[in-house]
Amino acid sequence: MRILVIEDERRIQAFLTRGLEAEGYTAVAADSGPDGLARAIAEHWDLVVLDLLLPGMSGLQVLRELHRERPQLPVVILSARADLQTKLRGFELGATDYVSKPFSLDELLARIRVQLRSAVGVEDEHVLQAGRVVLDLARRQARIGELVTNLSDREFRLLHHLLLHAGEVISRERLLAEVWGYGFDPGSNVVDVCVRRLRQKLGPDAPIETVRNAGYRLATT
Ligand code: CA
Repeated sequence: MRILVIEDERRIQAFLTRGLEAEGYTAVAADSGPDGLARAIAEHWDLVVLDLLLPGMSGLQVLRELHRERPQLPVVILSARADLQTKLRGFELGATDYVSKPFSLDELLARIRVQLRSAVGVEDEHVLQAGRVVLDLARRQARIGELVTNLSDREFRLLHHLLLHAGEVISRERLLAEVWGYGFDPGSNVVDVCVRRLRQKLGPDAPIETVRNAGYRLATT
C-alpha cells in the first residue's frame, strides 16, 4: 500500500513517514502544494495525507484538483486549522477524513486503516511471517505453532516492527520512537515491559531475544 504525505513541516513529515513505514506501508513525502499534486496524479497511490497550509498552493486547492483527477483516491486531511467551516469545505471538496493537529499517530493510523479497508471493500487478510512467528494483520493475532494469541495495539505494533526487521538488532530508542512515537520519555521502560508481556503471551518458544546493551531481535530460526 502506497501513501503520499503532502506536508511541508519536516519534523511532522519525518515522523509520519517513519510511522507509516513501521506499519508496513510505503510512504513518500512531498513538501509543497504543486509538487504534492503533481506526484499525486502522476503515480499510483492508495491514500493521500494532506496538510492544508502548504507553500505554493493551499491544501484545499490541491484537494479540488486532485479530486477532479482521482475521484476514488481517499484523502485524509491533517491540519491545525480545525474550525468547522474548513472541515466542511474539505469534505465538500472530496476529503474522506479529517484529523486535527496536534494528532496522535495511533489515531491517524487507525483512521487510515479504515479508509484503506473501505477503499478496497475487503478485510486485509495479509499475514506477516518470520521464522516461527506468524502475525495476522487483520485480526491482530500472533501465532506460533498451535498457539494463537490476541494482541493489544502496542503489542501488535511492537511485534509488527520486530517482524519487519526480523534478524536485526533494534535498539530500545528506535522501538520507542517507531512504536510509541516522539515525545515519549526516552528513559521510560515501556519497551521492556511490552516485550515482557509479548514473551508471556507467545509462550516459552517466543523468539524475541535480548541483545545486551543493544536492544531486541526477532530470531528467524
Ligand atoms: Ca503546513
